[in-house]
Amino acid sequence: MCSLCSSGNRGIAHSPHDAVSGASHSGPALAAAHGPAGMPQGLNTPGRRTLIKGGIILSVDDAVGNFPSGDVLIENGRIVSIGAQIDAADAVVIDARGKIVMPGFIDTHHHQFETVLRSQLAHGILINDGLPVNAANYYESVLQKLSLVYTPEDVYINELFGGISQLDAGVTTVMDVSQIHHSPEHSDAVIEGLRDTGRRAVFGYFEGWGDRARYPEDARRLRDTYFSSDDQLLSMIMGGEIYLPGFERAWEVGRDLGLPIALHVVGTFGMQPTFDRLGAEGWFGPDNIFIHMTGMSDDGWRYAADAGAHVSLSVPIEMHMRHGTPPIQKALDRGMCLSLSSDVECTMSADMFTQMRGLITVQRMFANASALEGATDYPALMQPMDVIRHATIEGARGLKLDKVTGSLTPGKQADIILLDADALNVAPLNHVAGAVVTLMERTNVNTVMVGGVVKKWNGQLLGFDIARLRGRIEESRDRVFAAAGVERSLFN
Ligand SMILES: [Zn+2]
Repeated sequence: MCSLCSSGNRGIAHSPHDAVSGASHSGPALAAAHGPAGMPQGLNTPGRRTLIKGGIILSVDDAVGNFPSGDVLIENGRIVSIGAQIDAADAVVIDARGKIVMPGFIDTHHHQFETVLRSQLAHGILINDGLPVNAANYYESVLQKLSLVYTPEDVYINELFGGISQLDAGVTTVMDVSQIHHSPEHSDAVIEGLRDTGRRAVFGYFEGWGDRARYPEDARRLRDTYFSSDDQLLSMIMGGEIYLPGFERAWEVGRDLGLPIALHVVGTFGMQPTFDRLGAEGWFGPDNIFIHMTGMSDDGWRYAADAGAHVSLSVPIEMHMRHGTPPIQKALDRGMCLSLSSDVECTMSADMFTQMRGLITVQRMFANASALEGATDYPALMQPMDVIRHATIEGARGLKLDKVTGSLTPGKQADIILLDADALNVAPLNHVAGAVVTLMERTNVNTVMVGGVVKKWNGQLLGFDIARLRGRIEESRDRVFAAAGVERSLFN
């Protein structure tokens, strides 16, 4: 790992290098770092200010407001001012006319180590229900079979490839739920993959399996080795799955280290009695991130809401894989902070447009059904701007990063995306949040910036040799499937 790669939120573009000194996994296959044609000279140059000019500004900060045409000035990776017209003669200018300028998306729960399994379980459900058609269920085939054979090299390339794919789709922050800690080397590989991706990421330290697994006790080494500084792109959260024996120790270790504690909360895993008991005993706090929250009791919800816990929903996955009905309204009715998460690409896309449309259509489906049945007190219909908040600032709050990212606010890191509002599928633009939530998809993500560094310019991801990385992820796919004894079938 070279010092520039590891310099965290500086993420400065630098010379191409494949043989990265000290890297365990032959590096991120960086391509030439000079930008494509049309990229302004001086962009990504340390010390130069950047001015995003003439964009349609959707700040997601009420104190800043929105601008039909406005500018964002960036200095040393941070947003320094936002306004209708900013003069900064020394700055490199990004012409943002026709582009929606908004904070990057935040995914609060993604399993990047499963990238080689993409679409493998498009037909799958979560757990075995005894029917032959559901024999390829997630719990048995992914968690108890395929994931067990990963080497650290597999872990690294999965993390990297899944990460840059999301970066390309405008997801500038992720919590990666890595249930792949079969050895300390596996843990190191997760973090190297997240770091080489070059975006903001929360390392979710979850379980692993086998004789060499060190979860949760290795948390202190990992925290001290990789997360001792706040001035970097990576931070850490402790996994604390309450369906695993000994979870109490993981919570204790996490809280000793001052780490938030995240866990899947899924009724079909039989978690409701444990969840209720923990709530009644006062275990919950504002440091908890509860993922899915399907099938929980009213008491469980009350304990979670009273504790100020965060809820992360993967709406399409929850419907598709039988986690249970997405409890959107339960979280909203209790005033809880609610974010979106992609979960697993073995079954669903990890772009946030899919998540946003899942959220708004399901919430409105239930409210509309209630209205059609004659109710007059049906829930307020979710608005596109609400969805944008769930996909940005509320995710930042959940990950304890809201002082850093999640909105276009002076002082925050410049995690910014430019979305093409002139595109064939969007023009003419009539409503900004509406266009983002109901019309756009990943091809509209024109430019992506993390901590003030441009990572994607005019539709092109910078700094990676994608063809080479694709070769490596295919090799990993072949290795994992062969080792697990799983036959890959393109058409069955
Ligand atoms: Zn998950």
